[in-house]
Amino acid sequence: MRKVIIGTISLVAVGMLLVALFGVYKYTVTDGGDVVPGNDACTLEAMLCPDGSAVGRTGSRCEFAPCPSLSEGRNSSEFIAPLDRASERVTKKPFGILIKKATSPVQQERFSGYHTGTDFETFPDESDIDVSVYAVCTGVLEVKESASGYGGLVVQRCTSDGKPVSILYGHLALGSVTAFVGDILEQGSVIGTLGKAQSVDTDGERKHLHLGIFKGAGTASILGYVASHNELDRWIDPCLFVCK
Ligand SMILES: [Zn+2]
Repeated sequence: MRKVIIGTISLVAVGMLLVALFGVYKYTVTDGGDVVPGNDACTLEAMLCPDGSAVGRTGSRCEFAPCPSLSEGRNSSEFIAPLDRASERVTKKPFGILIKKATSPVQQERFSGYHTGTDFETFPDESDIDVSVYAVCTGVLEVKESASGYGGLVVQRCTSDGKPVSILYGHLALGSVTAFVGDILEQGSVIGTLGKAQSVDTDGERKHLHLGIFKGAGTASILGYVASHNELDRWIDPCLFVCK
C-alpha cells in the first residue's frame, strides 16, 4: 500500500513537472516569436531635408537618418569635361607624368615630380579670347584664392562613388569667378575663364588649365606635383572621366 502511494505521488510529481516544463517551453517560444525588432518600434515620423527629400527614424535609438548633404555634392560620380574639346588639349602634361626640369615638355620648367592632375592646353586661336572653364561636378566652392604655382585657384568639393573628392582648377582668372566660397557650383556651369598667359592669374605660366581630383579633403589636395609615384594614389586621373 505504501509503495502504491509513493508511486502515485511520484507519477503526479512527474506529471506536474512535465506540464510545468511544457508551459515554460510554450511561453518561451510564444514570447520569443513576438519579440519586436528595434526598427519597427520607431514612430513613422519624417523629417524634411534642405534638398527637399525626407528621412525617417531608424536604428535602436530611433534617431533620424542623416540628410543628403548639399555641400558634399550629389549625383556626381560621373565627371564632365572642364573645357570644350577636352581630349584634344592633353598634349603636354597628362596625369602621373614624371616631370624633370631638363626633359619637361614645357620649357623653362620650374617644377619637378609626378604630376597630380591633367593639363589642358589652349589652341593658338584662343590666346586672346576668354576660354570658359566648366564645373566637372556639382558641389560646393571651397577655395577661391591666389596660390603659388597656380595663380588663380578654385577648389570644389564633390563626391565620387559616395566619397568626398576635391576638384582643383588651376590657372583661372580669379576676377572672372563670380561665385563665392560656400556657393554650390552646378555641374556644367561656368566657373570662370582661364588666366592670361604669363600673368598673375597663371603665376607666370602659359595659358592652360590644371585639373586635379584629390581623394578626400585637406591641404594636400592643392599639391600639383608629388615626389614619389606612390603618392599619386591619393589622386584620380581626371582623363578617365573627362577625356572621352
Ligand atoms: Zn598641371
